[in-house]
Amino acid sequence: MERKDMATERIAIIGGGPGGLMLARLLQRQGKCPVVLERDQHAQERPQGGSLDMHGETGQYAMERAGLREAFVAAARPEDQGDRLYNAEGTLLFDRNEPTDDRPEIDRSVLRQILLNSLAPGTVRWGRRITRIASEKGGFLVYGDGWSEQFDGVIGADGAWSCVRPLLSDAVPFYEGVTLVELGFDVARHPRISKLTGSGKMLAVGDNRALITQRNGYGHIRGYVGVRVAESVAREWGKWSGERVRQALRDAFAGWAPELRDVIETGEFIGARPLYALPVGHSWKSQAGLTLLGDAAHLMSPFSGEGVNLALADAVELADALTSVEDWSSVSRYEHIVCARATVAAEGAAQGLRSVFSSKGVEHVLGHYRARMRT
Ligand SMILES: Cc1cc2nc3c(=O)[nH]c(=O)nc-3n(C[C@H](O)[C@H](O)[C@H](O)COP(=O)(O)OP(=O)(O)OC[C@H]3O[C@@H](n4cnc5c(N)ncnc54)[C@H](O)[C@@H]3O)c2cc1C
Repeated sequence: MERKDMATERIAIIGGGPGGLMLARLLQRQGKCPVVLERDQHAQERPQGGSLDMHGETGQYAMERAGLREAFVAAARPEDQGDRLYNAEGTLLFDRNEPTDDRPEIDRSVLRQILLNSLAPGTVRWGRRITRIASEKGGFLVYGDGWSEQFDGVIGADGAWSCVRPLLSDAVPFYEGVTLVELGFDVARHPRISKLTGSGKMLAVGDNRALITQRNGYGHIRGYVGVRVAESVAREWGKWSGERVRQALRDAFAGWAPELRDVIETGEFIGARPLYALPVGHSWKSQAGLTLLGDAAHLMSPFSGEGVNLALADAVELADALTSVEDWSSVSRYEHIVCARATVAAEGAAQGLRSVFSSKGVEHVLGHYRARMRT
């Protein structure tokens, strides 16, 4: 496709998550005026989730390219990169306090705020849930609740259940068989959980189940209780009270060490998150004016710790592609690069999930932790 004059081209980025906001920032730095259409009514509408470790070659590189390195360094927590591994009996098998790699943590809400602060006023249009996109006169009509607007290009940065993806691909996320129940703790009120967690993240692994706690900023710890349950059960949990879900978890973790079960007993219930993924190697036939980034392109479980990092790195590649040449072939090349890169991470995420939630217990995971220390 021949591209319009780059200065006047109208681009809609659907979704104001880390990937969409980073793309908007990078395009603005190159003189373009993208619009971000986000379904949330405002930035604080829902909890944004826990702490993220930012990898040098992807997440941190993107912050650098966006001119946001200083803001990132000021907010990041390099001191929270420790790792602990326990078995179900509560024996500490692995304890690393000193970081061996450069992956500082940052709260997801803080990262979002840095990106929002960097954008020109009015870039993000809140409360715009997109319901449909249709090709129209060489461009696209984007529909919301009772309104529509014409754009020259549409970028799907709208996460797991992207409304843009079906225009490019038949792939649908599948349930990976594991649900994480999310819990919150204040360090001041939960010193035992803080001691258990150590200086970063703790993982406790038993037969097909796991407990995770992770230090966040502002004196918080986020916990995840992971179990293999049917998708229908996970959906039911989504409707239950926190206390009822807690009872189901109590039964599943009976026999675990009391200091580990403390996580289930004392955490403030946040919600149940069934884990979904797109097929490993997901790709699509390039279509002029339309593309995907981040989870919309390559949803995977969090067990590779790559999701946000890839979304941010995708935004860098896509911003370069959208500004460097006058036709869509540079975006086709972008799609090829990000799909190939995500395939490696998605294989790692699927493998990570299988090894944590296995009947082999903790030994396999311990081998992985030790191997990481050697690299
Ligand atoms: C429990 C858990 C822990 C994780 N931990 C890590 C980690 O430690 N490190 C890491 O790198 N990754 C982690 N991830 C993965 C990470 O959260 C995602 O990969 C990342 O958020 C993807 O960013 P994104 O911008 O592509 O999509 P999202 O963050 O999903 O953002 C999409 C945005 O689009 C909006 N939206 C959706 N539909 C519409 C619509 N129809 N119209 C308008 N707006 C819409 C949403 O409201 C949202 O703001 C974790 C994921 C989970 C579930």
